[in-house]
Amino acid sequence: MSFFVVDIALPVPLLRTFDYLPVDGDSQENYQPGQRVRADFGRQLLTGIVIGTRNTTDVPRDKLKPLLARLDDQPLLSAHDLRLARWMADYYHHSLGDVLEHWIPTMLRRGAALSEADEPGWLRLADPGRPVDLKGSKQTALWQLFAQQPYIAHKQLTGRGYSLAQCRRLAELELIQEDTRLPLPELPSSVRAPLPLNSEQQTALDKISACLGRFQAALLEGVTGSGKTEVYLQLIDQVIERGQQALVLVPEIGLTPQTVRRFQERFNVPVALLHSGLNDRERLQGWRQAREGHARILIGTRSAVFTPLPDLGLIILDEEHDGSFKQQDGLRYSARDFALVRAHQAGVPVLLGSATPCLETLHNALTGKYLHLKLTRRAGKARPPGMKLHSILHQPLTHGFAEPVLSAMHQHLSRGKQVLVFLNRRGFAPLLACKQCGWMAECRRCDARLTLHQYPPHLHCHHCDHQQPVPRSCPECHSPGIEAIGQGTERIEEHLGTLFPSTKIKRVDRDTVRTKQAFDELFDEIHTGDPCILVGTQMLAKGHHFPDVTLVVILDSDAGLFSADFRGMEHSAQLIKQVAGRAGRAEDPGDVWIQTLYADHPQLNLLIDDGYHALALSMLRERLDQQLPPYSYMAMLRSESEDKAQAQRFLEQARHLMQQWLRQYGKKDAPLTLLGPFPAIMERRNGRFRYQLQIFCPHRQALHQALDAAVKQLEGIKGFSKVRWHLDVDPLDTL
Ligand code: ADP
Ligand code: ZN
Ligand code: ZN
Repeated sequence: MSFFVVDIALPVPLLRTFDYLPVDGDSQENYQPGQRVRADFGRQLLTGIVIGTRNTTDVPRDKLKPLLARLDDQPLLSAHDLRLARWMADYYHHSLGDVLEHWIPTMLRRGAALSEADEPGWLRLADPGRPVDLKGSKQTALWQLFAQQPYIAHKQLTGRGYSLAQCRRLAELELIQEDTRLPLPELPSSVRAPLPLNSEQQTALDKISACLGRFQAALLEGVTGSGKTEVYLQLIDQVIERGQQALVLVPEIGLTPQTVRRFQERFNVPVALLHSGLNDRERLQGWRQAREGHARILIGTRSAVFTPLPDLGLIILDEEHDGSFKQQDGLRYSARDFALVRAHQAGVPVLLGSATPCLETLHNALTGKYLHLKLTRRAGKARPPGMKLHSILHQPLTHGFAEPVLSAMHQHLSRGKQVLVFLNRRGFAPLLACKQCGWMAECRRCDARLTLHQYPPHLHCHHCDHQQPVPRSCPECHSPGIEAIGQGTERIEEHLGTLFPSTKIKRVDRDTVRTKQAFDELFDEIHTGDPCILVGTQMLAKGHHFPDVTLVVILDSDAGLFSADFRGMEHSAQLIKQVAGRAGRAEDPGDVWIQTLYADHPQLNLLIDDGYHALALSMLRERLDQQLPPYSYMAMLRSESEDKAQAQRFLEQARHLMQQWLRQYGKKDAPLTLLGPFPAIMERRNGRFRYQLQIFCPHRQALHQALDAAVKQLEGIKGFSKVRWHLDVDPLDTL
């Protein structure tokens, strides 16, 4: 047998892949790209993915170790998957092994067999061709059922009125037998009919459906409630009709039972779900349902974008502007950008939907790179909400509310409607301070103040999770006069109790709604339609339908207006629009009141008067002037260390290396701009000092060549043992 090594990708931070000797007795043909293997790496046992085999290696023979096991006979990942993973590793300058971890559910990463997703309790046809002479119509009917559907679960049969005794009889006749099987999602008992589309919806549907079967990116820009989901559903119908699968990606918080139900009720095909609320086994089941083609629709959050789908025909990304599509640690990928690459490689369309598209996407639509489809009206009978800015500058407030806002609330409640109060700050108050000496409760590990919580009473750092008891007197001057300043959702809930003593008040934030179940129960309660006031954070803002909310009050729109981040205004505007979109979804038109200290803020006024699109166009002009994304490409090198000087020096070194490289290989027509290093806005977090180096370039390729060289050099850099660093390509924020 000739000598060969197996090249494998391992989940370690190093960029390279690794050569191993085969498992004893295996021949070269036993190894195919995409199989899993077990390998001894340093002192760890790891699961790796075979990239290929080779007959030569640079590793000295006595250093080569044999693989411990080959876990798959057939590749788990296809050549197609491996190509996509390679693209991602290159684009994010990240370890291929780490990237491949995202393709595989946890159980498989730990070495489980695919069959561990199977469950007992199934019956299947034993011998389809056999002539039978069955007694009784019930048995014949049961037998015919198996002829139509070769696998049936026990519980499905009892659900249809068959008894286990009847099954046993068929089993004795050796017609059917017990089996284990991958469970499949249940089909609805009846399927809801599609709605007749309005003309804008019809145009959008026609244009994108003309692209089925080839790559095309499209933006569906539709105001909240304009019927984007209905367009998705009818498009998916066509994809199913063509015998293909559809992948639907939604933000973490948008995957509500309502959304899922809407999809499940419409299609007579299995719909699989993948989200963070599932356990490992359920994830493996969903993954297999999709990969083996049983599920024809897969709905999932960010990481579902990696799921293998043999008959992929369409990708939909709803609320494409949502920040949860970008992973913020480890492999900092954007599921939106990757969905585009994936659709391109599969030769299928990708539809990005939003009422408030991000500027990158909008830019691509405006320049014609993406199809630009628009829904400008609310679907059905709903009318758009009326938005009002209310200046609270020099105005007396009652418990945080302006008088006209309170009277609007009374009006809506007396009409039997619901009111939503939005405040994106949980806890009781953002600050606890001493009136005597000016002391403020601050986090010892962060450059941040501690938030006062009342239920139960404690001080909490929202950045590092540090918690401590509330002092009774000032720790500095021992005066008892310490005071909660400002308001969070807990305090507003308390105030509302005083202001509206006979109205039910429901607080919705991460402290009241800790589990998915609690979330679902709360929404069921809201959907009874009883008058109430909802007070909450952005948990309330996204993707939900509250048909009985007719008034939305935004208590404090100002936090994002003066952000140090260049995307601050964009994100604020998106959030305001999302919250406002909750009002008046049914036939009652809604009102939106925004309390602000800056009632003449030009961008806020543009948003209120002319809408998000108009504001987006003006923000795009500013980005063009400043050569910021989408008019340039950006990456950010971040370092952090308990040793402040080291964190800074590391990036100085990185900058120096990059400049050296640029002098030699840089392109004049694609100059790189290096900004920094400077401290992050919150310089110290969780005991570590954080620095950043921002890198801009008008050309994507030139940027990536420089990044590639930089990362390779930084991997080998010595003397920074206390520094942690990472590269963030297309960072979502610079905070
Ligand atoms: P979006 O996804 O844009 O927020 P939805 O698809 O959820 O909007 O639609 C908002 C509401 O309008 C839903 O209650 C939906 O059933 C209804 N709707 C959508 N399209 C139509 C239509 N063509 N005719 C009547 N009602 C519609
Ligand atoms: Zn004091
Ligand atoms: Zn902290």
